[in-house]
Amino acid sequence: MASEEEINLLVIVVDVNPIWWGQQAQREPEFTLSKCMDAVMVMGNAHTAMNRTNKLAVIASHCQDSHFLYPTTSMKAGDGGGDEASSSKDGKYELLSVANSIIAEEIKNLMSKTQVTGNSTDTLLAGSLAKALCYINRVLKELEVGQDIKSRILVIKAAEDCARQYMNFMNVIFAAQKQSILIDACVLDSDSGLLQQACDITGGLYLKIPQKVALAQYLLWVFLPDSEQRSQLVLPPPAHVDYRAACFCHRNLIEIGYVCSVCLSIFCNFSPICTTCETAFKIQLPQMVKPKKKKLKLPA
Ligand SMILES: [Zn+2]
Ligand SMILES: [Zn+2]
Repeated sequence: MASEEEINLLVIVVDVNPIWWGQQAQREPEFTLSKCMDAVMVMGNAHTAMNRTNKLAVIASHCQDSHFLYPTTSMKAGDGGGDEASSSKDGKYELLSVANSIIAEEIKNLMSKTQVTGNSTDTLLAGSLAKALCYINRVLKELEVGQDIKSRILVIKAAEDCARQYMNFMNVIFAAQKQSILIDACVLDSDSGLLQQACDITGGLYLKIPQKVALAQYLLWVFLPDSEQRSQLVLPPPAHVDYRAACFCHRNLIEIGYVCSVCLSIFCNFSPICTTCETAFKIQLPQMVKPKKKKLKLPA
């Protein structure tokens, strides 16, 4: 069924939140950001080496920026330059060494220019996912006639969820679903309700790994096989999905709330005017109804 020319594009989004990784280095010195990036490169190399039509992109999700680690704009200008000559001496597939050195260089630059300012400590994951979707869309537009593409996104998640990104996150998930793009999540620390929903809605795999140091192994065993190969495998059982939504007024996760009948905004408290679409609700609240003994005239 899958033709020879089918391109498999894998976009890896890595959470590089400097605060989380700083704390992690103290908790567990054997698993640092550089170890995580090593695992990402192993995964990226394995994907690229599986088939000559496989493509790779890696995005670092920071708390200030979403940054392309691979491919980069500077790469195109210096293509075929000194990088390849220096890397081919060990006989390794050139594309892999070039990709690895670019990723290592870019992550070094990104982390060294980090300045953690007070209020931006959340990973901009929704933005990074949007960037991944835009990239996939661009690759799709640049396809030649007769070429087919299958894309998926793998999120390697470290820091806690940010309920303030709920809206953007859900929009990204539904956009991915519409384009039949799988979102997989490999969670290092606390469970992520947003990613559980993303994986559930797009048909991807959600896994909170029990041992962080074994990240490369989980990536290769669980996340490297694509959706067709996965049907042949016995993979970890699906995770429980936290389907709570964040209210638009306080960004709290709520189980029961008020929904605007016009724009479907969710609120934890009743307000007579929807703050999103400014619809005024003509609702007679029970306490406002005067106890009049008037006969009701029912419409015929
Ligand atoms: Zn609220
Ligand atoms: Zn509304």
